Amino acid sequence: MRIAVIGAGVVGVASAYLLARANHQVVLIDAAPQPGCGASAGNAAQLSWAYGDAMASPALFRHLPAIMAGRDPAFRVRWRLDPDFLIWGLRFMANTPARRWWNNTREILRLADESRHEMVKLLSETQIAFDYRVAGKLHLYPDTKSLAAARPTVARKRQLGFDQRLLSRREAEEVEPALKSYQGEIAGAVYTPGDALGDAAAFCRHLTEFMVATFPVSTCFGRKVAGFDQREGRLSAVRFADCDPLVVDAAVVTAGSLTHTLVADLPEAGKIQPVRDYSLTVPWKEGAPRVSLTDVKRKIAFATIGERLRVAGLADIEQPGAGFDAGRFGVLQETASAVLPACFDRPSEGVRWSGERPMTPSSQPIIAPSRRMRGLYINAGHGMLGWTLALGSARRLAGLIA
Ligand SMILES: Cc1cc2nc3c(=O)[nH]c(=O)nc-3n(C[C@H](O)[C@H](O)[C@H](O)COP(=O)(O)OP(=O)(O)OC[C@H]3O[C@@H](n4cnc5c(N)ncnc54)[C@H](O)[C@@H]3O)c2cc1C
Repeated sequence: MRIAVIGAGVVGVASAYLLARANHQVVLIDAAPQPGCGASAGNAAQLSWAYGDAMASPALFRHLPAIMAGRDPAFRVRWRLDPDFLIWGLRFMANTPARRWWNNTREILRLADESRHEMVKLLSETQIAFDYRVAGKLHLYPDTKSLAAARPTVARKRQLGFDQRLLSRREAEEVEPALKSYQGEIAGAVYTPGDALGDAAAFCRHLTEFMVATFPVSTCFGRKVAGFDQREGRLSAVRFADCDPLVVDAAVVTAGSLTHTLVADLPEAGKIQPVRDYSLTVPWKEGAPRVSLTDVKRKIAFATIGERLRVAGLADIEQPGAGFDAGRFGVLQETASAVLPACFDRPSEGVRWSGERPMTPSSQPIIAPSRRMRGLYINAGHGMLGWTLALGSARRLAGLIA
C-alpha cells in the first residue's frame, strides 16, 4: 500500500519506519523543513521503559487545590470556555481514581515494554547515532512520607517484571555521586537501572535518512496538510494547503498536539490537549549527573545527552499554540540552578526551548482507525511519554493496518 504519514516527530518517524519494514510504500510529510521539529525537538530525552505513570492520578487530584490556587510553580492552568477543553478536563478528572490510574499505568507500561523490544531491534538493524545510552534513572523523593507512598507502586511494577528499587539517600549517592552536591531535599530514591535515554530529534533525522536510503520511503517537508479527499467513505488523497493532492491508499495522522486540526470533523478530535513544557540544554561539566534524575517535588528532570546536560519541566495547560513564555522559562531556569548551581551558572550559554505534549485524559495514546473515514488512521496523544512509546505505538499501528 502507499501510505502517507503526516507529522515527522518521533511518533511519525517511528510509524514510517515500521510501515516501511512491513513492505509499504511510505510518504513522510511535515509542515516543518525537517523531521523532529515539534514536541520531539527538545524533550527530556528519557526512554522511561519502567516509569509509565499516568498523569491523572489520586496524588494529582489531592494536589489540585494547590494547582488551582497557583501555589505550585510547576503547573499552570488557563481556563477557557471551549467545549473540547472542558470535556477533556472532565475526562481527565474521571481518570484520577486509584483503579483507573493503575489500569492506565499498566497499559502504558505494556506499550513501553513493546517499545523497548523494538528499540533493541532498531539499534541492531540501523546503527543510527542519537546518543542512546542505558543511563538508569533515579526519582528523588524529598521526604520519608512521599518515599513511603511510592513503595506500593514499585512493588506492583516488580510483580510485572520491571527492575525498580527503593534506595536510601546514601545508596542513591553511590549510584550517582553528583547527588552529594545536589541542593534539593532527598530522603531516598526509586532507581530504575534499565531506563535509557537518547536525543529524540537526532533519532528523527537519522532514522529518516536511513529509511530513505533503505526502503521505498520518500519525504515531503515544508508542506502543510490541509485535509483529506474521500470517495464513498474511503480516503483517496491527502490535500495540501499550497500544492496538488497526493493520491494514497491510506494515511496516518501523527501530528502530535495539532492532530485535532486534521481530524476536526471526526469523533477522535478534542481528545488531545496540548500541555506546554520547557527545557534548557547546557554544555556538560565535570560534576554533572550521568544518571537521569527526576526531582519529584520540583517536577523537573535532568538528562545527560552526549556532552550536553538538559533540564526539562513545567506543565502548562493553556490555549493551543500559546508559544514560548519567557516568564515560565525563568521558573524552570531558577529551579534548575537552585538544585544544581554549578551546572546552570551560565544559562545564557544554553539552548532554551518549549514544546507541547499531546495529552489524552488517560495518558494513553490513540492508536486507531478513524471511525468515519476508512483508510485514515491516528497515532497520537502520547503526552509526556511520546519518545518512550513511539516504537511500540508504531508496531501496533503497523499491525492494525496489516
Ligand atoms: C519538555 C518536554 C519534555 C519531554 N520529555 C519526555 C521524555 O523524557 N520522555 C518521553 O518519552 N517523552 C517526553 N516528552 C513527550 C514527547 O516529547 C512527546 O510525547 C512526543 O514528542 C510527541 O511526538 P509526536 O511525534 O506525536 O509529536 P511532534 O513531535 O510534535 O510531531 C508532530 C509533527 O506534526 C507536524 N504537523 C502538525 N500538523 C501538521 C500538518 N497539518 N501538516 C503537516 N505536518 C503537521 C508538526 O510540524 C510536527 O513536526 C516531553 C515533552 C516535552 C514538551
